[in-house]
This record gives sequence, C-alpha cells and structure tokens, in this order.
Amino acid sequence: MGDLAPYAVSDGASRGRTIPEPRPVARSEFQRDRDRIVHSTAFRRLEYKTQVFVNHEGDLFRTRLTHSIEVAQIARSIARAMNLNDDLVEAIALAHDLGHTPFGHAGQDALNECMLTHGGFEHNLQSLSIVDRLEERYGAFDGLNLMFETREGILKHCSPAKARELGELGQRFLEGRRPSLEAQICNLADEIAYNNHDIDDGLRSGLLTLEQLEGVSLFARHAAEADAEFPGLSGRRRVHETIRRMIGALVTDLLAESARRIAAAAPQTLEDVRAAPALIAFTEAMQAENRALKAFLRQHLYQHFQVLRMTTKARRIIHDLFDAFVADPRLLPPQYQAMAATGSVERATADYIAGMTDRYSMKEHRRLFSVGEL
Ligand code: MG
Repeated sequence: MGDLAPYAVSDGASRGRTIPEPRPVARSEFQRDRDRIVHSTAFRRLEYKTQVFVNHEGDLFRTRLTHSIEVAQIARSIARAMNLNDDLVEAIALAHDLGHTPFGHAGQDALNECMLTHGGFEHNLQSLSIVDRLEERYGAFDGLNLMFETREGILKHCSPAKARELGELGQRFLEGRRPSLEAQICNLADEIAYNNHDIDDGLRSGLLTLEQLEGVSLFARHAAEADAEFPGLSGRRRVHETIRRMIGALVTDLLAESARRIAAAAPQTLEDVRAAPALIAFTEAMQAENRALKAFLRQHLYQHFQVLRMTTKARRIIHDLFDAFVADPRLLPPQYQAMAATGSVERATADYIAGMTDRYSMKEHRRLFSVGEL
C-alpha cells in the first residue's frame, strides 16, 4: 500500500474493535479482518449460494463466492488508484454477501415474509450478524470481532428502527451521514460486478440474446468498439471483449467523477468524508446508462419465466422449512435449538435457514418432507 490519502481509513484513524485486542504482528488491522473473513464458515458457503441461477444449473455461472472475489478485484483497483485503504475494501467486499440466504433474492424475500411479525429478515443485517455474533471460531468472543469500519462497510443500509438498536454503528443512518470512501467504493463495485456478470451469465444460459442487448446503450456502444478494433470477432470472445470494456468504462467514469467530487468537497479527514454528501459516484450520464442496463436485466433476466419458476420453488422451500421448524423446534439441529431456547424460535430458525446453501436447503426440505429420505 502506498501513502494513504489523509481522509482514508487507517489503523490509526479507526474506531477499533468492539472487544479490544493486541495489535496484529506483521499485518495491518484490516488485513487481519480480511483474513478472518476468508477463514470463516460463512465465506466457504458462498461457493454454493447463487444470485440468479441455482448452483446446480451449470458450473460456469457465478456463485456468491466468485461474485465476491470479482467485487473485491474491482473495489481494490479503485481504492488503490485513489490512495484509499485497499485492505479494508477487500475485507468489506469479501464479507458483503455473507448474510445471503440460499436462492438469492427470492430466498431473502421469502425469509423476510416468514419473519414479518418477528423483526423481519434483511441479508445486509444478516451479514453483520454473522461477523458480530454467529461465527464460532474464537475463544474470547462470538463472531469475528472486526474493526468498526469493516462493520460499517458491511451495513450498507438499515431502517431507522434497526439503526436505533445498533448503537454507534447505526448512528449514521439516523444522522444522514455517509460511511468511509472505502465502503462507498464497495457499494458501487458490487453494482459494476453484478450488472456485468449477469449479462455474461444471461447470455451463456441462453436466457438473454445479443439482439436484445443491442438495445442497451452501454452494451451496444462497447460492442461497437470491440467490433471496430477486432472486425469479424464473434461468439464468446466478442461478448468478453465487450464486457471488459464496459467494466473499464464504468471504473474510469467512477474514478473521474469521484476525483471531481473530492476536489470540490476537499475533505481533510475521515470525519469530513462522513459529513459530506456521497463522494464516490458515477457521472450523471453514466448513472443513466447504468439505470437502463439494470432495468433491462430486471425485465429480461430476473423476470424471465425460467428464472421465475426457480424462484417460485425457492420461496416454497424456504416457507416450508420455516413453518416446520417453528411448529416444532425439536427438528432444529442442537445448536439452533439452544439459540431458540434463549432467544426467539423464529430468529434461530431464520439464522439456520439463512446459513444454508442452495443444495443443502433442498436436501433439508427432502429430509423433512419426503418419506424415505434420511
Ligand atoms: Mg453483491
């Protein structure tokens, strides 16, 4: 890491860990956070969790694990170009999806419906619960005891009611303040990563066609650039030449607009960043193109009938599991029974279901509902 900008997060400018620990030897505090995340159980489970496609649908589709690694790559490049803390950015990016349920957004919506009268379920808050409470790895504390700024970056959004429960970490949502620039970068790197890899996976699966994508300006513009440089290029190679240009254009735009905003706001410290309006952003023009791309993906990929069939099944699985465990908590594995006994049955059940991978939840469903399945 080169010289950090004065308003970057650094070990020295951090609000530290919830439970104080000795400083790490031979690595920074945020490298330690990243290392703790990589070694967590929830991180390994990301390999078998998906966003749009179900894990067994094909070996080439993104999983939450490869998605998180792509987000970390994009976020780190941006952070390094801006002299920000790329160790922190990597930690946030690798942890940002830890709380996701099986079956992506369909799973999250279903679990939230189940929990509606029991405090709700939100994957973002669940990621925080995992690093704060659910991981069982250390003798001295529950969770991973991460640095404040890593936790701040994981908690992207939060309702005012939840924010009040969270104390110092929730305060910014009540006061309308921003998180660090590192956290802001991760947020947009996430968007860059999924918009682009969903195009790639959408095309590979055959749910999207190139003809449809020609109507999306961001895609069409960069496909034309690829064609101009490599006339006659076709197939996968043309798609990849287009997508890498799109990612490059989004990153370059974000770097230029963010530099402009930082120069205008002239923050001197991390606290100045937190008090300023969002400083990491796309230009207005790029933002509009990005919105059009998202609308396209929503209409043509996320609402594709084949995807909807899968999400309908996913909802049913989540609802069935939830109802069965709440009706008889003795069906829960012992550690969740213990959590149910000291807390709420519904929350313990939600924690259990949220931790499941796609295939584990399907197996658990068969174990509970099909005679002859062990
Ligand atoms: Mg993500």
